[in-house]
Order: sequence, then structure tokens, then C-alpha cells
Amino acid sequence: MQVPDIIIAIDGYSSTGKSSFAKIIAKEFSFLYLDSGALYRGVTLFAIENGFISDDCTIDVPGLDKALNDLDLHFGENGTYIGERCIETEIRSLAVAGKVSPIATVPEVRAFVDKKLREFGASKRVVMDGRDIGTTVFPNAELKIFMTADPMIRAQRRAAEMTAKGIEVDIQDVLKNLQERDYIDSHREASPLSQAEDAIVLDNSHMTMEDQLVWLKGIISERFGC
Ligand code: C5P
Repeated sequence: MQVPDIIIAIDGYSSTGKSSFAKIIAKEFSFLYLDSGALYRGVTLFAIENGFISDDCTIDVPGLDKALNDLDLHFGENGTYIGERCIETEIRSLAVAGKVSPIATVPEVRAFVDKKLREFGASKRVVMDGRDIGTTVFPNAELKIFMTADPMIRAQRRAAEMTAKGIEVDIQDVLKNLQERDYIDSHREASPLSQAEDAIVLDNSHMTMEDQLVWLKGIISERFGC
């Protein structure tokens, strides 16, 4: 399938499989995949390690904002990096997941991440996943998808993913974390999670990855005549 040079924006609730779907799309159409959540997670790890966020999630915003000027957060061969250090495993931990949504409410953090995402997206042929890609980062994206799924199914998928990586988790903790994140993400003032008016909803509760790809190809061929 010959897909034109477009930006595909994928937004939606936590653990709906946005990044897995985006990776498959990138592979299928030779697009660049960008995981915006990984950048928020990277800033969160940095904030934890440098004392800019306390155990009760109080954030030293001026301190963090200043430190972001020197934060070399980027994507590399094995995922997300701070300088030369690969942080891919640490940013997927529950410790980071528990603090990322409060960190993502900070407008200064959002500005830092948005700037990076827009630089990466300048090339088109990009698929990007997050919470505000179709509404704020790339409001002109040619194709916007909003993903949702039953919360328990999402928790089971995320728990299975973590178990496969050797991280022991309680399903109730995972469910609680993703519901908390959905709540904070949807209710924050700066770029809340919301469905763009022109986004197409994909509820994948009972769909395999193969089903989702078939669905997407149908949409693309209808919309772009390819
Ligand atoms: O996608 P992922 O679950 O890795 O994102 C982690 C967190 O980063 C989300 O729960 C949300 O708080 C924040 N985020 C965001 N805007 C994005 C992507 C992620 O606020 N575009």
C-alpha cells in the first residue's frame, strides 16, 4: 500500500495499545515512530532522580524548568536516552508511572516536550502517539485516531507486558494507576486528553493487532485513495 506523506496522530487513554499499534504502523508503511509519552516519562525520571518531585508529588516547578534547559533527552537505538544513558527500562516502572501524570500537567514541561516533538515531526511520514497529538502538537495531522478500550482489559494487557519483562505487578495496582492517569490527563488545564473533532475512534477491546491494521488500511484507502 502506497501511503502518502502524512502525519498520523494517535491519542487515547492509558494502556489502550497506542504505542504497539503505532510501532506496527511505522513498520508497515516505513514511517518514523515517535512515542511522546516516553519523553514525559523521561522528564519524570529526571525529576525524581534530581529531587524536583517529592513522594507526595509536590513539584519544584521553577527548579525543574531551569534544569530542563540542560536536559539532553532524546531517542536512540534502544529507545529513550538521557545523554548516553539508555533509560528505557526505568521509565516503564510503576515508580515513574505513578508520577508522570502530575509532571505532565506542568505547562513548562509540556512546552519542552512539544518543542522536541514538533522538530521530529517536521519531516512528515511520522506516526506519533500520546494524549494531545491531534489536538495540540499536530492539529493539522492528516489522520487522527482516538483509541479506547475496556479498563480491565487494558489493565490485563499492561500487567502481562510488565510480567513478560520480569516486573512483578498486582493487577489492581495497574488498574488503579491507569484510572488515576486517565483522570489527571483528562482534567488538567494544559492540553488535556480529549478527542479531536476530526479524530476517528478505535475501540480495540476485542480486536487483535491484525484486526486493527486491517481497519486502518480501510480508512487510509478510503480517505487517500491508495
Ligand atoms: O503514553 P504513556 O502511557 O507512556 O504516557 C505516560 C504519561 O505521559 C501519560 O499518562 C500522560 O500523563 C503523559 N502524556 C501526556 N501527553 C502526551 C503523552 C503522554 O500528557 N502527548
